[in-house]
Amino acid sequence: MFDTLSDRLNNVFDRLRGRGALGEKDVRDAMREVRIALLEADVALPVARDFIARVTERAIGQEVLKSVTPGQQVIKIVNDELITMLGGEDANAGEASPINLDVRPPAVVMMVGLQGSGKTTSTAKIAKLLKEKQGKKAMMASLDVNRPAAQEQLAVLGEQAGVATLPIVPGQQPVDIAKRALESAKLQNVDVLLLDTAGRLHVDEALMAEMKAVASVSTPAEVLLVVDALTGQDAVNVAQSFTDEVPLTGVVLTRMDGDARGGAALSMRAVTGKPIKFAGTGEKLDAIERFHPSRVADRILGMGDVVSLVEKAAESIKAEEAEELANRMMKGKFDLNDLRKQLQQMQNMGGLGMLAGMMPGMKKAKAAMANADMDDKVLVHMDAIIGSMTAKERANPALLNAKRKKRVAAGSGTSVQEVNKILKMHQEMGRAMKQIRKMGGLKGLAAMFGG
Ligand code: GDP
Repeated sequence: MFDTLSDRLNNVFDRLRGRGALGEKDVRDAMREVRIALLEADVALPVARDFIARVTERAIGQEVLKSVTPGQQVIKIVNDELITMLGGEDANAGEASPINLDVRPPAVVMMVGLQGSGKTTSTAKIAKLLKEKQGKKAMMASLDVNRPAAQEQLAVLGEQAGVATLPIVPGQQPVDIAKRALESAKLQNVDVLLLDTAGRLHVDEALMAEMKAVASVSTPAEVLLVVDALTGQDAVNVAQSFTDEVPLTGVVLTRMDGDARGGAALSMRAVTGKPIKFAGTGEKLDAIERFHPSRVADRILGMGDVVSLVEKAAESIKAEEAEELANRMMKGKFDLNDLRKQLQQMQNMGGLGMLAGMMPGMKKAKAAMANADMDDKVLVHMDAIIGSMTAKERANPALLNAKRKKRVAAGSGTSVQEVNKILKMHQEMGRAMKQIRKMGGLKGLAAMFGG
């Protein structure tokens, strides 16, 4: 997501930065290119036009052009205006929009959207997130009586997420299910009740009437519209139609992990006036993030979304585990068990692609990895290989003679070559550790990097 836009903006900025002085014409030329980049990213025309007008006015109108670093200043303005585009005009537009649960419980979160947008999955993801991150007692109910097995699908996801779902009563209609869900949630002291409503292939009157009826019996604290980022401008149009009919409070943008050009994310706020509250980033139930406009702007401008990365790392790597690993490394006791743990942590953090996308300056590294066939499958293979070794072999890789390597390769469905690759990687890491120790441990390393 945003890759092309990011590349194009960086080209423009590289040229701006390289100049000592900037004139009005330079800014206007640069903005023409930025405008094209936005339109190519599928940003709605009025939104792109407004953006360019604002940036140009600020860049030319202020003291920017006379300053010592005009290029940097223009980039800063673009950054600010990107945040406004993504998050609105408020002072805290850069922050994630809070989800409102501040009502007498159960707070109802009504999920709406077209079929296939990722509505049911997102319902379960958000329920899981509220339960695990905010300690809320959540419950889900499917009101989708149109699509066969929709109710069962939510029940299955509920089981995976560890969130209760309302028992299914065959034949019951949406409004009655909503009422029953509310009663049940009250009785069980549920904090948040998520209602997964029916989808349709297109926005139609019957759907809107149903949404209104459900909203009127459940008085939702949040009405979240789920739209698929891959559908670009269509997503924005769908959002617009819903906004006109039901009192939306926010948007969930799914498939942000896909290679959409980003137009939906960039135009959504301006066109609908509603904040994007969550971004879906994969099929797994953990693949959802709060949408932080300032971080997304950083990612677009190629500064890297370091804060999200650090948060992800902190979530998936337990502090003690990391410390223990570091200690073992320092003592030269880094065996294949440790290597395996590291590989698993990388996977937990969303795999190589995800990491590369978030790190500053990693765009090129990502391309290099793709060239070297270094994708997430490699991580899975490595894990399988180490998993096929005996405990003794893992603790003491020197035991792995030709015969044993053959056995491990067969056991993991790989080749002896691949087994050798891992052993070599492990050896090299061990060697690197020794170097670090010689330089005075991690403190020495930090000193080297000016820490
Ligand atoms: P619904 O018809 O709107 O309820 O859609 P579903 O929740 O059944 O989702 C349709 C498909 O999209 C499923 O295969 C989901 O796993 C997938 N999906 C949902 N959200 C995401 C996402 O953020 N990223 C990716 N890659 N897939 C998603």
